[in-house]
Amino acid sequence: MSKFILIFFLLFNFSSTWSFTILIDPGHGGEDDGATGLYKVGKRKLPIKEKDLALGIALRIKKKLSKNYNTFLTRSVDRSLTLAKRAEIAEKVNADLFISVHINSSTKRSSNGFETYYLDNHDDAAVKKVESIENKDLEGEAYIIDKILTDLVIDRTVKSSKGLATSIHKTIRKRVKGKFRMVDRGVKPGLFYVLALTKRPAILLEAGFLSNYKEISKIRTRKFQETYAQAVADGIHLYLKDKIKKKPSLF
Ligand SMILES: [Zn+2]
Repeated sequence: MSKFILIFFLLFNFSSTWSFTILIDPGHGGEDDGATGLYKVGKRKLPIKEKDLALGIALRIKKKLSKNYNTFLTRSVDRSLTLAKRAEIAEKVNADLFISVHINSSTKRSSNGFETYYLDNHDDAAVKKVESIENKDLEGEAYIIDKILTDLVIDRTVKSSKGLATSIHKTIRKRVKGKFRMVDRGVKPGLFYVLALTKRPAILLEAGFLSNYKEISKIRTRKFQETYAQAVADGIHLYLKDKIKKKPSLF
């Protein structure tokens, strides 16, 4: 390949991946801790919060994606942010993709594993998720309005969101499952309003269970967070690879 062709090739690839904007959303923040739990250091038990873990992982994902894409965070520090405000940011930065980062929790201590959600309401399991901690700041009238909005948004974005979730989950499974001996809970439909409100291809990651002592001892390590973040970045790249020539008709 001549130097001229090589430069042209590099410029083309550079500009085409840079034309995508990705918004990463660390769940909760500020007064909203998300799930809370304890981790063990020897015989001592120390508190741990979902909002802090989510931010740590999101910052790593952003760093990895920044090499190839326009990337933004809904929050880069510990501050309160409503679901509606997160959606507003998606609008403001004109995000192509929205990635929300969370850590799971269960009253059953043995629950474990990673899972990836996309927005859909055509499933019983998805509807049950409505009452979960992830939707807690929408009530009353706003709830009803957003329910209607959700139905409309789902039809428009479900295919893209499912494709994005599948790509990312595939790379998470590849990098994380064996290395950290974690359970693959799969790609699932979920009715998360933060995904609906963003009105664009969006997914919600549950990296593992904060309520499981064994699992949280893995999730809080730099090694896990780096590996997980790289897997998410790889999955996004895998998904966007086919879309580069199709932009702006991403939907
Ligand atoms: Zn959460």
